Amino acid sequence: MTIAIVGAGLGGLALARVLHVHGMDSVVYERESSRGARGQGGMLDIHSGQRALREAGLIDRFHAIARGAGQDMRLLEPDGTLLLQEDTPDDAPLGRPEVDRADLRGLLLDSLPGDTVRWGHEFASAGDGRLHFADGSGATYDLLVGADGAGSRVRALLTDARPVHIGQNVVEVGIPDIDRTHPDLAAMVGRGNYWVLGDGTSLAAQRNGDGRVRIGLSFYNTDEDWFAAGEIPFDDPAAARARLIDLLSDWDSRFTSLIAACDDTIVPRAITALPIGLTWASTPGVTLLGDAAHLMPPVGQGANMALLDGALLGLALAARPDDFPAAVEQYEHEMFERTSAAARMSAEMKELLMSPDAARKMLAFLRPDGS
Ligand SMILES: Cc1cc2nc3c(=O)[nH]c(=O)nc-3n(C[C@H](O)[C@H](O)[C@H](O)COP(=O)(O)OP(=O)(O)OC[C@H]3O[C@@H](n4cnc5c(N)ncnc54)[C@H](O)[C@@H]3O)c2cc1C
Repeated sequence: MTIAIVGAGLGGLALARVLHVHGMDSVVYERESSRGARGQGGMLDIHSGQRALREAGLIDRFHAIARGAGQDMRLLEPDGTLLLQEDTPDDAPLGRPEVDRADLRGLLLDSLPGDTVRWGHEFASAGDGRLHFADGSGATYDLLVGADGAGSRVRALLTDARPVHIGQNVVEVGIPDIDRTHPDLAAMVGRGNYWVLGDGTSLAAQRNGDGRVRIGLSFYNTDEDWFAAGEIPFDDPAAARARLIDLLSDWDSRFTSLIAACDDTIVPRAITALPIGLTWASTPGVTLLGDAAHLMPPVGQGANMALLDGALLGLALAARPDDFPAAVEQYEHEMFERTSAAARMSAEMKELLMSPDAARKMLAFLRPDGS
């Protein structure tokens, strides 16, 4: 039986790895031309997804690349009031360590036989046991797994649902090599998460493994045309920084100094999500995992769910190698339940972040006993 996985992201690779551990082959078709063809994003906090890495036999290697100090947290209000500071002791358990997405993806890639991932294969369509790629080539499959992320094309084989804008637009900026270039700001941000939550706007800064601090500025209650309306002049980085500082004009100057120190990489991200609790009728020969199945607001669940999906689908297929349709149905049943709970939680967190007095509400969420 040929298992074709579309997408060499975290979920697709976790599936390929767990199948490999159980002696089953798969082929991963990835549209990017090589593993380093584009930047692989920033830090992810991996909690429930650690189970997937255990099933993949990679937990020790994961702990070696994970950053415990990345669990540090500072929560502030726009006027500069520090509401919470948590510094992770050196011997603290790695419950929610941060890991560079590129390192985690590299760990999974290196754990697979060299010919598993076929780079430069952009999935276009499928039918009658045949995959069709954008360059006109094709391949056969018995089971097709869409692990092709938020903009999945495989999804259309199972459902008409599409991601919709959730009223949040993010501008991503960053300070390279912060310890050398801005030691004062490095000390302010600290080793992990640095959140400033205002009314309708938030700033989330985070130290990455390469010494860069990535900053996401979220503008809530904004619609999908917000970027197109020219709110931020992305073609002129200096003017874009000035505009972002202007949008934070009532914030403490230490936060705007973070923006002033950023380099010219300024990336707009319109945030979309699939409907909570999306399901489809189980269909022999095709299924989905990860963001393709349940894209949710970005509050720390997506990567964990994708890893778990991949591992649990792999285990289900390994347990029933002669009955893939039953294995897929069993996987989907558990996945729908688990990920709709995570999507509900993510939507509630997004509501909190976009509500008035978000910083105090977040404090109450993180410290329900008022400690
Ligand atoms: C480059 C990149 C950077 C990211 N950075 C961050 C980040 O900094 N923080 C964060 O929280 N999340 C980030 N994410 C998203 C996060 O990794 C996912 O939400 C989560 O890991 C779910 O994983 P997934 O396997 O479902 O999808 P993804 O990890 O998104 O992987 C999907 C894969 O499918 C491939 N693909 C897409 N369409 C096709 C096609 N037609 N044919 C073949 N292959 C295709 C993509 O190139 C990608 O490799 C990033 C995703 C990507 C792709």
